[in-house]
Amino acid sequence: MNDTKKNFYEKKRILITGGAGFIGAAVIRRLLTTHKINIFNIDKLSYASNLTSIKQCLSNLKIENSSRYQFLKVDLCNSRETSMAIKSINPDFVMHLAAESHVDRSISRPRTFFESNILGTFNLLESVREHFENLTTSRKKNFRFHHVSTDEVFGSLGKEGSFDESSSYNPRSPYSASKASSDHLVRSWYSTYGLPTLISNSSNNYGPWQLPDKLIPKIIFNVLNEIEIPLYGDGSNIRDWIFIEDHVDALLKVLFHGVIGESYCIGGNQEKTNLQIALLICEYLDKSLQRKTPNSKLISFVNDRLGHDFRYKLNINKISKELNWNPNFSFELGLENTINWYLKNREWLNSSIDNLTNNFYA
Ligand code: NAD
Repeated sequence: MNDTKKNFYEKKRILITGGAGFIGAAVIRRLLTTHKINIFNIDKLSYASNLTSIKQCLSNLKIENSSRYQFLKVDLCNSRETSMAIKSINPDFVMHLAAESHVDRSISRPRTFFESNILGTFNLLESVREHFENLTTSRKKNFRFHHVSTDEVFGSLGKEGSFDESSSYNPRSPYSASKASSDHLVRSWYSTYGLPTLISNSSNNYGPWQLPDKLIPKIIFNVLNEIEIPLYGDGSNIRDWIFIEDHVDALLKVLFHGVIGESYCIGGNQEKTNLQIALLICEYLDKSLQRKTPNSKLISFVNDRLGHDFRYKLNINKISKELNWNPNFSFELGLENTINWYLKNREWLNSSIDNLTNNFYA
């Protein structure tokens, strides 16, 4: 980064919503390390939240909690709290990640998803619009609102093909329907009110600090603790996996360099079935745990998820050509880093499972 750019960020204020979640915290850790920007994290603090990684990062970098980073406990479903938070933060950039994010939870409790993902996004857009309209001309020129979304809004693919930015929306779960709705709201605040928005739709993320109610850390947890690994159906559902650090690289490119009003698909180009993932983790841990029986004996197949999407795959030509971004991590390398991190952080893994009061795993 050259000096002019450094000074540009030093005076700016970025709001990250959902910064206590898996991806938001990774974005904050990266910004703390690479950009001297003032960071504001708002989160309602739910079962999915964990601020430990940010605290560790602040302490490693010897950054005083209040100097360049501040946390505010705010539920976006509360319009008054949200509006007051935006006024006090006075942001130049907003990256909106706060959402209920677990498909299985959306099937059993869809209302929470409607409230946080749709109403929460609406409240945020309205507060940010009011803030944007009151900015000076020069601050308005640089202002950006980046909404972080998912490939699941496009629906399910068969064995062939991929989705791109022009694919029609066809969400099939309460989670993806709520995310699709929020994407539509963001797009309409751009067209109707001229709010400078960007949207990114990413594939499945994995990496350190992810809670073990998501597929990869759940399998790692179960193998380490010799618990059965339940896979939906016959384990043949396919996802396109992206390592968290690759996603963070892409998010920052979209936020700072994307074209206003556009959307970008962010995929890892690493398609795997759930069964392949379980076998890779079992084999990797066979080597380090040296048990008498192979860990793959723990794999079992359970009744399929309702409306289970078969396959997602994103075409990343647009972000690759226009923003010069491509994933760096092969699935094998990202997975090795991830498993090694969990092996070193077993205490955190075991304590985080205590907060998860169910058997959700995908
Ligand atoms: P996460 O569940 O780990 O974290 C979400 C955070 O948002 C939590 O800390 C939660 O407390 C907060 N939150 C939820 N509702 C809120 C509300 N009403 N007000 C304030 N805070 C609220 O999710 P994640 O995996 O970090 O995902 C972040 C974003 O990225 C989400 O919008 C998700 O849809 C999207 N996304 C995730 C993936 C993935 O694989 N994890 C893939 C594509 C897109």
